[in-house]
Amino acid sequence: MKVADNLAQIQENIRQSCSNVGRSETDINIIGVTKYVTINRAKEALGAGVKNLGENRMEGFLKKYDEIGNDATWHFIGSLQSRKVKEIIANVDYIHSLDRKSLAKEINKRADRPISCFVQVNVSGEESKHGLSKEEVPSFIEKMANYPNVKVVGLMTMAPFLDDEAILRGIFRELRQLRDQIQAENWDYAPCDYLSMGMSNDYQIAVEEGATHIRIGSELVGPYDE
Ligand SMILES: *Cc1c(COP(=O)(O)O)cnc(C)c1O
Repeated sequence: MKVADNLAQIQENIRQSCSNVGRSETDINIIGVTKYVTINRAKEALGAGVKNLGENRMEGFLKKYDEIGNDATWHFIGSLQSRKVKEIIANVDYIHSLDRKSLAKEINKRADRPISCFVQVNVSGEESKHGLSKEEVPSFIEKMANYPNVKVVGLMTMAPFLDDEAILRGIFRELRQLRDQIQAENWDYAPCDYLSMGMSNDYQIAVEEGATHIRIGSELVGPYDE
């Protein structure tokens, strides 16, 4: 499949989900997750009109960035070791995996400008998932006042890999409620306008529940065996 055809289908699905709940599809940012594909496939995605690219490992991020540079907006979506921050910080536009103070401290130290970060939340409580528990999030974000180069633009979650729509919807809704709670604090360093949630198998539900950034790999740039 061409990326352009996949993208057209995804955009159609987004339009449908938006219309179900009275949202505008211009509020949805598609992040093309290119971690499993070649640089050429990533370039094909850009050519098809995908503006945001996401990578989950430092090596993949740097390889793609080297070739593509500022033709894309760059999202780091994977868990990030503190010692790798300095490798990506100059070129990253958004970090989706802020989940601990030591990482905030390192971002703050290495960045020469405020970095847009999503705080990763483990809404489902699955042990295998990274992220803060919901209960930890407000006090964690409050502490980000100490790190002027960390700007909390939103919350991110990875839902469990299931096809139980009610459970997924509940998880996305909880993230949205938490976002609303943080927004109400009016912390200037944490506008928290965004929700990074939804992947290939669940983005339509995420959009209905308020996602602003959906991270799509396989449905957009797959299948991977081409
Ligand atoms: C791989 C990945 C995605 C995309 O997954 P697909 O199911 O292929 O859409 C989204 N978010 C994160 C954090 C990922 O690691």
